[in-house]
Amino acid sequence: MADTGKAAKSKNKLLHDKLVLEPKSSWLRFSDKEKKDIFTFTDGYKKFLAESKTERLCIENVITILKKNGFKDINTITKTKAGDKLYKNVKDKTVLAAVVGTDSGHWQLIGSHVDSPRLDFKPHPVYEDGGLGLMKTHYYGGVKKYQWVNTPLALHGVVFTKTGKKVNIHIGENDNEPKFIIPDLLPHLAKNQMERKAPKIVEGEELNILVGNIPIDDKEIKEQVKFAILKHLNTEYGIVEEDFTCAELELVPASNPMDIGFDASMIAAYGQDDKVCVYTSLMALLKIKTPKHTAVGFFVDKEEIGSMGDTGAASFILKNFAHDYVELVNSKVPCSRLLEMSNAISADVTSGMNPNYKDVHDPRNASYLGYGVSIEKYGGGGGKYSTHDSGAEYMSYIRSIFIKNKIVWQTGENGKIDLGGGGTIAMFLSRYGMNCVDAGPCVLAMHSPCEVTSKADVYSAYLLYKAFFEA
Ligand code: MN
Ligand code: MN
Repeated sequence: MADTGKAAKSKNKLLHDKLVLEPKSSWLRFSDKEKKDIFTFTDGYKKFLAESKTERLCIENVITILKKNGFKDINTITKTKAGDKLYKNVKDKTVLAAVVGTDSGHWQLIGSHVDSPRLDFKPHPVYEDGGLGLMKTHYYGGVKKYQWVNTPLALHGVVFTKTGKKVNIHIGENDNEPKFIIPDLLPHLAKNQMERKAPKIVEGEELNILVGNIPIDDKEIKEQVKFAILKHLNTEYGIVEEDFTCAELELVPASNPMDIGFDASMIAAYGQDDKVCVYTSLMALLKIKTPKHTAVGFFVDKEEIGSMGDTGAASFILKNFAHDYVELVNSKVPCSRLLEMSNAISADVTSGMNPNYKDVHDPRNASYLGYGVSIEKYGGGGGKYSTHDSGAEYMSYIRSIFIKNKIVWQTGENGKIDLGGGGTIAMFLSRYGMNCVDAGPCVLAMHSPCEVTSKADVYSAYLLYKAFFEA
C-alpha cells in the first residue's frame, strides 16, 4: 500500500464526515478548468447586465438571444414537434420561452423577474427651481432612498407623441453622454437632516433630478430653464410636456458591472436582482436539445412591486400561455392539469450573510457568498406569511438533481425571523398547484444601486437550472 503521508481517519471521524453537514466554499470544490469556465461565463453575464438595466431592455435582449438560437414567435407557428423552440412576447415586458419535450404534457419551468428597483418619472416631471431644471421621480420597488442621491443615473424608456408615435429615449450609458443626478445636502448644513430617521433622511419628494441649467434669454418667458429643457426635448425627440403623461421613463445607475476583490471573484452591478437568474436560466434554456419534459423559461415583469399588473406573475399570463401551448402542441393534457403537474423553480436571489451586519442573520440558516446556489424552502415574513412553503417531497426531488449532477448548493432563510422578509413569484406559480421552490444566488446590498454576487454562485445557479431543465 502506498504511503500517502496522512494519518488514517479514526472510525468516529469517518462516521462524523458522513453524519455531520459542514458547509464549505464552492471555490474549494471547483477544478481549475471549472474556475476558468466560471470567469468566461460571468464575462457574458456582465455584458448582458450592462445592456439590460430596465425591464424593456432586458426583454429586448432576451428576445434577440432567443431568436439567434432558433426560437420562433408563437404567433408565427401553427404546429410543433419535440425539440421545437418558441416564445411569446407579452407587451415587451415579459417573455415566455419553451423547448418542446418528447413528453409535451409536463413542464419544467423556471421563472425569473426582469424588473429591478429604480426611479420612474412622475406624469408631470419637469419644473424649475433655483435656476435649475429638475424632474420629479417616484421610486419603484423597495429602495433605501438615501442610496439614490449622488449616484450618476442613466435614463431609459418610451414616450408617445400626440399622434401616437413611439419615441425611445436612452441617454447616459456611454462615457460621452451626459448623466443625471440627485444632489444630496452638504454635511455642513445637514444638522437637521442627520436627525431624521433613516427612511426619511431622503424623502420621496426629495428625489428630484438635475436636468439643466442654461436659461433661454427671453424676457417674455417666465421659467427660462424649464422652457430650454422642453425646447431641447422637442428638438431632439419631437415631444412636448403633455407627452410625459403617456410615457414610461426610468432612471437607473449609469455605472456598468465590475469585478470586485483582488481575486476578481465577485461582481458589483445594478439590477443583479433578478437579472442574474434571467441570464443563468436563459443560458440554461439555450443548452437544451430535446428535453423529456418541455422546458419553459418565464421572464416576468413587476416582481418588485408585488407581481401585480398585466405583465406580472400574479396575472393570468402564464395560464394564457399554457392555453396557447396546449392548443399548439395538440396536447391531450388539458391546461389546468398541465399547470398542476408541472415542476417549477422560482429563480430569484436571496440575501447573503453580510459580515458588517451579522446580527440580522441566523448564522446557522444563512446563505454565504461563494457557497453555491441557494435554495429557499420558503420566504415571506412574520411566521411564513406571503410565501410558498415548498413540500419536503419537492425539496427531496431538487436535492436529487444536485446529487446526480454534483452541483454545489446551500440553503438558508432570508434573515432573522422577526426582522422583516420578502416575497418572490413562488407564491404565484404555486397557485396552480405546481411544485415550486425558490433557488438563486445570494446577494449583498440587495436593491442598492450596486449589488454584489459571487461568480461561483452565479455559475452554480446556471448548473442547477440546466440540470433542472434536463431532469
Ligand atoms: Mn428578486
Ligand atoms: Mn428584489
